[in-house]
Amino acid sequence: MIEKILRTLLDHVIEKYHKWLLERKAMPNEIAVYELCSCRQKSIFNRSLPELILSESLRPGSIIGELIHEGLEKIFGYEEKVFKKSIDIEGVKYTLCGQPDYFDGEVLIDFKYTTAPEHTLPKEHHLLQVKLYKWITEAKEAYILYITPRGLFTIKVEECLADDDVRRLFETWSSPRFPWECAQCLYRSHCPHAKAHKEAETRK
Ligand code: SF4
Repeated sequence: MIEKILRTLLDHVIEKYHKWLLERKAMPNEIAVYELCSCRQKSIFNRSLPELILSESLRPGSIIGELIHEGLEKIFGYEEKVFKKSIDIEGVKYTLCGQPDYFDGEVLIDFKYTTAPEHTLPKEHHLLQVKLYKWITEAKEAYILYITPRGLFTIKVEECLADDDVRRLFETWSSPRFPWECAQCLYRSHCPHAKAHKEAETRK
């Protein structure tokens, strides 16, 4: 029985999030918001080895998060869509693709399930993600709704990114983007940047 449940959940997340990677449809100049908000090398690994991401989808926290997303989207009567916006960077056209959890043409909400304590919220990468969704959709208002075992917390994201801010995010897209990423990364045993990062940390 459990294998059927897991298979159904996995098919659902493949269809919703990972099909474009598994079918090798990723275009070099089309970048997902979640890629730009995290490590550059991780996106290279993900595009070459997308099958490895699937095991992450069946971690208990990921399953709970996805069930909450599906429940809220059903209650809101919303089906996720991909929004795109292009930008010229040194003569090359890049297209940024975002899939916000809710957008009604004016108000945008991203749902986040977390067990992190309230005082650690919002997370820097979540803020960045929603700012980029705002830039793509030109939403008038944007929020992060944190769903935690201790309560619901709403964060209003006021800042609007200008095109130059987005250009800078491409220019500063590093491996990793945030120092904590390597410790949680499924590629850390194989990644040359993780090793360099660890050495840099050791030298401190
Ligand atoms: S180990 Fe670190 S640098 Fe390497 S892919 Fe993962 S997050 Fe990026």
